[in-house]
Amino acid sequence: MKQKRFFLPEDQIPTQWYNIQADMPNKPLPMLDPVTRQPVTLDQLSQIFCTECSKQELNMTDRWIDIPEEVREMYTYYRSTPLVRAYGLEKALGTPAHIYFKNESVSPVGSHKLNSALAQAYYCKKEGITNVTTETGAGQWGTALSYAARVFGMEAAVYQVKISYEQKPYRRSMMQVWGAQVTPSPSMSTRAGKDILTKNPNHQGSLGTAISEAVELARTTPEKCRYTLGSTMSHVSLHQTVIGLEAEKQFEMAGEYPDEVIACFGGGSNFSGIAFPFMRHVFSGEKKTRFIACEPASCPKLTRGVFTYDFGDEVGYTPLIPMFTLGHDFMPSNIHAGGLRYHGAGGVVSQLCKDGFMEGMDINQLEAFEAAVLFAKSEGIIPAPESSHAIAAVVRRAQECKESGEEKVLLFNLTGHGLMDMSAYDQYLRGNLINYSISDKEIADFTEKLGKL
Ligand SMILES: *Cc1c(COP(=O)(O)O)cnc(C)c1O
Repeated sequence: MKQKRFFLPEDQIPTQWYNIQADMPNKPLPMLDPVTRQPVTLDQLSQIFCTECSKQELNMTDRWIDIPEEVREMYTYYRSTPLVRAYGLEKALGTPAHIYFKNESVSPVGSHKLNSALAQAYYCKKEGITNVTTETGAGQWGTALSYAARVFGMEAAVYQVKISYEQKPYRRSMMQVWGAQVTPSPSMSTRAGKDILTKNPNHQGSLGTAISEAVELARTTPEKCRYTLGSTMSHVSLHQTVIGLEAEKQFEMAGEYPDEVIACFGGGSNFSGIAFPFMRHVFSGEKKTRFIACEPASCPKLTRGVFTYDFGDEVGYTPLIPMFTLGHDFMPSNIHAGGLRYHGAGGVVSQLCKDGFMEGMDINQLEAFEAAVLFAKSEGIIPAPESSHAIAAVVRRAQECKESGEEKVLLFNLTGHGLMDMSAYDQYLRGNLINYSISDKEIADFTEKLGKL
């Protein structure tokens, strides 16, 4: 029988994360304080994030960073995640390509986000912080942080966008099962929330509002609470490199090496996680791997955005980040891949994209769902709508291999399962979903206000 799944024994789970900032030919430009336009300092960053994460964010020199033993111990509850050869999908496509996926959906919370949530909660705890806070839209990051906080005996306060709090109750229930306090945002518990509700008592909430509330909570209780983020920042990408480092060892067991690494792209954390460990061999000239980041065609920051300084959030609380962006007040269409509806790319991935080490690929909503259903039928797993963007790209590439007869080795990241997203599948199966497109004029309107680099 052919081996389909590759696992690492516990003692081979990585002991260090890979910090790509040490190896990049061109370092990312510094993040700037929006008022002084000076590079942000460690002091400024650690008023919002915990000190260790702030240090990691600015670390341009240490290639390898130790995974704390307590975090690695928690990783062993679900890692190594399997590297799977997708024989079923290959057969369904009749392709000579060898398709592999890394299955991050097996984590207790159902997605890769736990890899960073555990690290962030642990460092906060170690620094004497007792409470963590964040915002969540659809709920993936909120669930990961809630469970991670539970693991390290901390309190989590999650501000969930009010409309998803009401319309998607199950992720909220997950957070509550793990003991998090979940507040629909805008709420009366912060000044930002009160101001909004006084003006408009029926406000449905937005990610921007929820961020304002979470950051305000962290800023007003500095002795015990820190804010955490699930994507975009380089320390989050760092924690996710455990994915690619495992995959590298698992490919040795399979006796192959990926020609192309493919991942969906929201803010860039899972892409970074699976891609960076392989990219270090491209920097050193040993390998010529191709890296493809798959974004929704309705939110095309990598392929059609501009490279300049912009805020990481809608409100303008974060430092200015050098990024490919559609503008921080860009309103993405209401696609079902909630985790990919983000206006900008992190600073590190943006620089790598600019330097030609990786490329963006745009995927329409219907193409993503079509690929998801094909994957579910041939491999059994119902993927998250976000992950389906990577699957759609793999399907495209595998079909091109069929035409050219090339036996390429393709690797993609299955970031999560879709079992909490069945209402989206229901809409798709009823034929109610549409593709959204965005004109050059709309993009220009959102980006022209941004300064030039
Ligand atoms: C959040 C999320 C994403 C996108 O986030 P990145 O930081 O770009 O990786 C993708 N898939 C799932 C399942 C998610 O929860």
